Amino acid sequence: MKKGNIGVTTENIFPIIKKFLYSDHEIFLRELVSNAVDATQKLKTLASVGEYKGELGDITVRVTRDEANKTITISDKGIGMTAEEIDKYINQIAFSGAEEFLDKYKNDAAAIIGHFGLGFYSSFMVAKKVEIITKSYKENSQAVKWSCEGNPDYTLENCDKAERGTDIVLHIDDENQDFLQQSKINELLTKYCKFLPIPIAFGKKKDWKDGKQVDTDEDNIINDTQPAWVRKPADLKDEDYNKFYRDLYPMSEDPLFHIHLNVDYPFNLTGILYFPKVKNTIDLQKNKIQLYCNQVFVTDSVEGIVPDFLTLLHGVIDSPDIPLNVSRSYLQSDGNVKKISSHISKKVADRLQDLFKTDRALFEEKWESLKIFINYGMLTDDKFYERAETFNLLKNVDNTCYTAEEYKKLIETNQTDKKGDIIYLYATDKDDQFSYIEAAKNKGYDVLLMDGQLDVHLIAKLEQKWEKSRFVRVDSDSVDNLIEKEDRKKTSLSEKQQQNLTTVFSTVAPKTEKANYIVAFDAMGANALPVMITQNEFMRRMKEMSAMQGGMMSFYSEMPDSYNLVVNTDHALVKGIIKQQEESCGKEMGHFDKTIADIDTKLAEINKANEGKKEDELPQEVKDEKAALRKEMDALREQQKAILANFADGNNVVKQLIDLALLANNMLKGEALSKFVKRSADMIQA
Ligand code: ADP
Repeated sequence: MKKGNIGVTTENIFPIIKKFLYSDHEIFLRELVSNAVDATQKLKTLASVGEYKGELGDITVRVTRDEANKTITISDKGIGMTAEEIDKYINQIAFSGAEEFLDKYKNDAAAIIGHFGLGFYSSFMVAKKVEIITKSYKENSQAVKWSCEGNPDYTLENCDKAERGTDIVLHIDDENQDFLQQSKINELLTKYCKFLPIPIAFGKKKDWKDGKQVDTDEDNIINDTQPAWVRKPADLKDEDYNKFYRDLYPMSEDPLFHIHLNVDYPFNLTGILYFPKVKNTIDLQKNKIQLYCNQVFVTDSVEGIVPDFLTLLHGVIDSPDIPLNVSRSYLQSDGNVKKISSHISKKVADRLQDLFKTDRALFEEKWESLKIFINYGMLTDDKFYERAETFNLLKNVDNTCYTAEEYKKLIETNQTDKKGDIIYLYATDKDDQFSYIEAAKNKGYDVLLMDGQLDVHLIAKLEQKWEKSRFVRVDSDSVDNLIEKEDRKKTSLSEKQQQNLTTVFSTVAPKTEKANYIVAFDAMGANALPVMITQNEFMRRMKEMSAMQGGMMSFYSEMPDSYNLVVNTDHALVKGIIKQQEESCGKEMGHFDKTIADIDTKLAEINKANEGKKEDELPQEVKDEKAALRKEMDALREQQKAILANFADGNNVVKQLIDLALLANNMLKGEALSKFVKRSADMIQA
């Protein structure tokens, strides 16, 4: 028997394995089973090239547990190891620069294991003693047994072993007894080994006998050695893809469609990505894609490896070229990984393009589910944006889909404003904005429906990408002004009339903390509505954006909504109100007007007498006099306002017109609504 010291130069690795690698204890099973699978595959390769001439026999890898002796054994019929090979592969562990590295990655078990090739040694995370009983495939090999109790000393001795291959026996330590449970082992095998390429048996298949579950003779094989992604696309039907999808995500609805990835240059990558059916955004979940390395499950957090927008997809990616056992930050800066990421993005775009070209009707049918992925991609990945331009669809309020190019052609002639900008009209809610949509349609305009989660951002993106193009929501102005083709028609009202009418309407406009109403005038023609509510495009977007961003900008989102109460000065009812107002307040107002004019003259005289002097150079008595005059004027104006307010309060038509405008926007609620109903009834009776 040989005794020796494991070739760790700078320090003992065992405390490190035990102490630092606490977070990922469970990966020991993955490491050992994949070693067993590797050894088996190597033997298969040797056999296929004629270097191994014996019988392959049953090459199933077996995981067994012995509760009484507290051991787990992983057995394979692979190439096995000679004593020299154990020495080379197990005893000598290159360990240069260890301290520095360990310090940096002390919380990242994967990085440490990857760096040192510690796959096998991860067994010491859960075992106080590990034995390797192995016999090489080489002719006349002597079986050997290696044993180590979690310190740098090991023993290596000859032993009896009938068959070729390796048994790794783990004597589970006291803290890790959990791993001895059948259910735990099952769970780990299912998680990590479900698609390994060599059959893996754990226990026997169960059967019901006399009301009890009993073992049958048949091995319980826990894996599918030929998962869909390693098979040729030509050999697979849609059903196969859907079945595999259900294997991955039991209970899920069938996906929309799949993309089979198969790359062998400049890196190796296979996989299947699925577009899930999304009914609403709650269905969207990141971390559904599973990452494999040669069919060994590694992780389901693929950020950094797949472009962000594709993390919403489902499926598997398998690549031996992704450096799996390194930290995330390293991964994200790795050139290879970046290439993989952009390649996947391109593949996805190609597939979508293909689908669009070959079956546009089907593509449109799936659009509602596809939209969120495509838009997300366009917003976050410029390359994808370029590719997606050909198949991203714009849908109008009548559910017709257009590509950007088609839509531009459709609206170009009719929806270009006087500055030459193409105006894309859109609605965000078909019901709420119904009257505006109708008005726009009556004018021959087309209206897009932009009610998706990401549409606010998409609009901003498209405006930035498309030259001389703007998006304008249908309710942001009166229909004539949505697309300004000529200068705005001026209202015929005098300044004074406008002032008075502003007071009249603002007196009656709703006063809440959540909304401000600004009275504006517009000559919209005698047939348009008398009063309309619009919301400035820019202001609304600022608010929406800041509400979404939060943080610094969020004070915008807390500001009240600002609406325009646009009074149509061409409308007979509005003209009637002006007339009534002048008749009923004219005389009283006129009296004040005269006094105000007098004060104005006095102020002008004072200013003239003191020409050339700055305000604070004036003598005190002049300052005082001016202040007194201004105060008097303000008071008079207040009184005028009170007269107008009094008139407005008693005028049901003003109230009715404002309420109708609110009603048209679905903004008349609660008490205001019930007052409106009552007032309407009264007015009809009268
Ligand atoms: P890695 O698998 O990353 O090379 P490990 O520490 O897991 O690192 O294994 C070291 C080496 O030991 C392997 O490369 C292989 O040569 C050998 N080895 C481990 N397990 C087995 C096994 N079950 N059968 C044959 N050789 C093995």
